Amino acid sequence: MQKKVLIIYTGGTIGMVETEDGYATKSGYLHKVLGRMSELFHSGMPHWELIEFERICDSSNISISDWSAMAHTIRDNYDKFDGFVILHGTDTMAYTASALSFMLEGLGKPVILTGAQIPIGQARSDARDNLISSVIIAGEGRVPEVCVYFGKKLLRGNRSTKVSADEMEAFSSPNFPPLATSAIDIRYIDSLIRPAGNMLEVVDFAEDMPIAVLKIFPGIQFKMFENIMTENLKALVIEAFGVGNIPQYDAELLPLIRKAADNGTIIVVCTQCLRGKVQLGTYETSSALKKAGAVSGGDMTVEAAVTKLRYLFAKRCSPGRIKSLMEKDLRGELSE
Ligand code: ASP
Repeated sequence: MQKKVLIIYTGGTIGMVETEDGYATKSGYLHKVLGRMSELFHSGMPHWELIEFERICDSSNISISDWSAMAHTIRDNYDKFDGFVILHGTDTMAYTASALSFMLEGLGKPVILTGAQIPIGQARSDARDNLISSVIIAGEGRVPEVCVYFGKKLLRGNRSTKVSADEMEAFSSPNFPPLATSAIDIRYIDSLIRPAGNMLEVVDFAEDMPIAVLKIFPGIQFKMFENIMTENLKALVIEAFGVGNIPQYDAELLPLIRKAADNGTIIVVCTQCLRGKVQLGTYETSSALKKAGAVSGGDMTVEAAVTKLRYLFAKRCSPGRIKSLMEKDLRGELSE
């Protein structure tokens, strides 16, 4: 029987047109273009349907409610389709992919996010391959995970990150190999693919969730951050140097972090490096973070760490449990 794929169009360059103010989304436009793409109606292709969101946006504008809309659209159509493709802007695609990997609990079908660096209406657009291959992968159903397909690679969504602003291979998953690559055929690496869940449930994230990300740099004056590190701050992701190091010259940081930890703020340390993992305590410059109550984000991307925190808050876990689960692999986002 012909497989069925639901394409969910949320916005992004893929369906944008040129305007006086630069590229912008245009309602109804993508639907017309897809209707004229003969490849999408080839006999080997799955049957597809398109849902266009009422508010299609540049993904810089993506919000928590958009993530909920995506997750609920998948749940509401779950039994009718074999897989799902989400067309999305590239700027925040890795955040959305990470968020959905946590929100779609018990997922048993492919959810493939894709987009393009060049709009579909332009001659050199990368949209065609990204879209057609994503629809095929979603229909084949061999990867029951939230993934990003881009530039001939299928990546685990919560391992992905945007690494190039202007190349066609815009995404990478630096700490995890691609789940599949696209050559003459699509080559899946079955041993890397997670098993399918058997009952889908959506975990909605709260919109109001004060989380901050603090990138460390030489010369940083920690006093500047005192005002945000109050008891209202639920979590702080520190993007530290190397394996989790921070400067020691500034006597203000550790009392601040200690105070934040005492306030109940969860402190997670990720690395600024593209590859490798945080190992608190390897150096003197990270031992203090550990002593102050911070936990290691291991080899998680910041996108995964931020959305995992939202997920654990949504599950109403206690601070102690959140700390321990941040160091555990839940959806393939972390190498333990
Ligand atoms: N600004 C665009 C977006 O994220 C970029 C893109 O789609 O490539 O929506």
